[in-house]
Amino acid sequence: MRQILEINVDELVAVVQPGVVNMDLQEAVAELGLFFPPDPASWYMATLGGNVAENAGGPRCLKYGVTKDYVLGLEVVLADGQIIRTGGRTIKNVAGYDLTSLFIGSEGTLGVVTEIIVKLLPKPAARATVMGVFDEIDQACDAVNRVITSGVLPLTTEIMDGDCIKAVQSQTDYGLPSDVDAILLIDVEGWPEALTRESKIVAEACQQAGAREVRQARDEAEADKLWAGRRAISAALSNLGDKLGEDIAVPRSKIPDMVRRVRAIGQKYNLLTPVFGHIGDGNLHPYLICDRTNPEMMERVRSAAGEIFTAAIELGGTLSGEHGIGLAKRDYLSQGLHPVARERMLSIKRLFDPNNILNPGKIFEETAS
Ligand SMILES: Cc1cc2nc3c(=O)[nH]c(=O)nc-3n(C[C@H](O)[C@H](O)[C@H](O)COP(=O)(O)OP(=O)(O)OC[C@H]3O[C@@H](n4cnc5c(N)ncnc54)[C@H](O)[C@@H]3O)c2cc1C
Repeated sequence: MRQILEINVDELVAVVQPGVVNMDLQEAVAELGLFFPPDPASWYMATLGGNVAENAGGPRCLKYGVTKDYVLGLEVVLADGQIIRTGGRTIKNVAGYDLTSLFIGSEGTLGVVTEIIVKLLPKPAARATVMGVFDEIDQACDAVNRVITSGVLPLTTEIMDGDCIKAVQSQTDYGLPSDVDAILLIDVEGWPEALTRESKIVAEACQQAGAREVRQARDEAEADKLWAGRRAISAALSNLGDKLGEDIAVPRSKIPDMVRRVRAIGQKYNLLTPVFGHIGDGNLHPYLICDRTNPEMMERVRSAAGEIFTAAIELGGTLSGEHGIGLAKRDYLSQGLHPVARERMLSIKRLFDPNNILNPGKIFEETAS
């Protein structure tokens, strides 16, 4: 089911089958001057069906929101074989319960999505990038708040901590200083005239927050250079050993506390815990570098992961910002849900899938066959 069935330029709508890869949709609509904002870092291989099932996010969420903000309607095969349609092609639709939203993020546990109607936007004209280099992570958070309160809503606000910077620099020289606590990459996009002003505001906000250095890209090639180190994180961390990537989210004001908690947990369990993420959304990816063949170390990793989830929840956040619960986090889910809300979720699962045939055991252990 890999076909793009329709792209309607006038209605800003596309209809796709669930096996269409995110990148293929993005490229197809871009040829028509349109734009599909959801951009998980896995966009080159992740499918729209998977994006819907996980309610995937990505770096552009601060400005554009997540997958659910771009899904207007669905065709879904239910557990009993009936095929239903939810939502439609209109932006506004409040006829009855919002079943479209119920299926989005349900991780394939309530039905199989077989068609997706997505909302598109006109393609923005241009993009500009500013990099801020900070001695303290708190300064980077301050810079992001200054940008947002100045009236500029950035496209992306990506942060990498000192451990990530050291890891990427040890692979290749991306021109990043290895002795800093945080690097911030802020992109703005829109009309070129507006971007000149907006990038200036972003650069000033970084300086006012105490940046040691601010770099501004003058063209796309320079922007790509600034982004090269950020894009290299995943591969660089893989070279440090095995890695367990987490995906917590906290209110933006709590980011410095969360990073400190992750570092303290890393020290407690004697683990390297590099952190990067989408700071504007409060979404951080703390990684636990480990050796999967070492049972004693993996025990420490499990304990550390549990304490990271607890810290996120204590700080008012969630144990999963964009990757979902799946099998790996279901033991921790109770911490993050109100008990009655959890019970109602299980009732929904039983209603849609009484014989427990749809992804049994995902999200909730109780539903495992
Ligand atoms: C390197 C890397 C980077 C990533 N970066 C991000 C990121 O930035 N943001 C983010 O949100 N996620 C990210 N992810 C996680 C993942 O890629 C996303 O959740 C993505 O949306 C999953 O799509 P997929 O096609 O890979 O789905 P799969 O992994 O194949 O499936 C995911 C789940 O969805 C269910 N499912 C798939 N299709 C359907 C369907 N048609 N109907 C019902 N259920 C279905 C599956 O049963 C499974 O439970 C990343 C993953 C990797 C490996």
